[in-house]
Amino acid sequence: MDRQQEYVLRTIEERDIRFIRLWFTDVLGTLKSVAVAPAELEGAFAEGIGFDGSSIEGLARVFEADMLVLPDADSFQVLPWRGENPGTARMFADIQLPDGSASLADPRHVLKRALAQASDKGLTFYTHPEIEFYLFEKTLAPGQPPTPVDTAGFFDHVPHGTGHDFRRSAISMLEQMGISVEFSHHEAGPGQNEIDLRYADALSTADNIMTFRTVIKEVALEQGIFASFMPKPLADAPGSGMHTHLSLFEGDRNAFYEAGAPYQLSTTAKAFIAGILHHAGEISAVTNQWVNSYKRIWSGAEAPAHVCWGHNNRSAMIRVPMYKPTKGQSTRIEIRSIDASANPYLAYAVVLAAGMKGIDEGYELPPEAEDDVWNLTDRERRAMGIEPLPASLDHAVHLMERSELVAETLGEHVFDFFLRNKRAEWAGYRDQVTQFELDHYLTRL
Ligand code: GLU
Ligand code: MG
Ligand code: MG
Repeated sequence: MDRQQEYVLRTIEERDIRFIRLWFTDVLGTLKSVAVAPAELEGAFAEGIGFDGSSIEGLARVFEADMLVLPDADSFQVLPWRGENPGTARMFADIQLPDGSASLADPRHVLKRALAQASDKGLTFYTHPEIEFYLFEKTLAPGQPPTPVDTAGFFDHVPHGTGHDFRRSAISMLEQMGISVEFSHHEAGPGQNEIDLRYADALSTADNIMTFRTVIKEVALEQGIFASFMPKPLADAPGSGMHTHLSLFEGDRNAFYEAGAPYQLSTTAKAFIAGILHHAGEISAVTNQWVNSYKRIWSGAEAPAHVCWGHNNRSAMIRVPMYKPTKGQSTRIEIRSIDASANPYLAYAVVLAAGMKGIDEGYELPPEAEDDVWNLTDRERRAMGIEPLPASLDHAVHLMERSELVAETLGEHVFDFFLRNKRAEWAGYRDQVTQFELDHYLTRL
């Protein structure tokens, strides 16, 4: 047992923790939890705890259902919303097969593998997400859109508003769980909020995002409302993105920074951006994984629908923030396409792989888009070499199917499961006859 594992066992005893939840994530990004008693933990650290993986989305085929969860002691946290005496704690867990190998279906493993490839080249991947979500009244009328808890807009201060109290409770709970919050504000949509987490290595960020979603939902329930990370819940208000700031470090040097270069971007940074842009279409089904994701992408506003980059250009898929004259260690790029309900492990894995491909192959960065690309015509965009992102999940799945990069990054098992699942989602959607069609065609045709 290592020191961190000993610390966990000691804390459990000292704080009278009777339940320990082991958390992991399925391929679609749903958090899963199994509770173990403290007495089982020593064994769990040593050899894992067995469970039937076949009932979890994408985790196993029925004939290889036996799996083990192995708690990661570094991620130990007491859950503040479960109260004390007796308390409840959680750890993230890795999934293993009985022969001791990592489960190829575990999204955490997919990200670890992508990070290891970057680290073989001496690079560490840091991320800082801006997570948007809506707060709605709890009662939903069947067939009606949900009711936002307020009617405020971007950065509005809402006196005694639900959002205000909500953010305060949510942030203090996140901080109690060791997740630092950098920034929070009301977003542009009614009832829409944004909370930005402090930057961390990508694996910690992905774990933090899973914790974040749970905390936000718990706090909302406590306050008698509910929170949703659906990419585009309201037809006439902006969607919820999960813009993420990205940087690569070589030791303690920011590999994206070069003094004196345009926007202070190094050759590595430019090739990394070029890689993401080049592979943008094929990674889209992962960063924007639901039918509904494409309604956000194509809603205009500040969601990006076109594959281009720009400095301070909020219509571009990749933005180079220029907050300070000298950026130095804080040099980073912001990818704006990822939405609030992506599986963070898989999304960060494919984004990193696309960027690394750009570096490995020395891709050339296309010229930046200086205009609001939403205002250009299709023909103007085409003349500038700016391609659209996929129009729908169906389109994104077609591009992903042909992608060697995504197949290699996700691994065969996750790649096949994901495509099968998404084709089925699309088919289910296509089978619907919607209100739009009835309104437009029923009496006219
Ligand atoms: N809600 C917008 C999106 O879906 C982003 C707004 C912003 O720039 O923060 O991406
Ligand atoms: Mg925002
Ligand atoms: Mg942003």
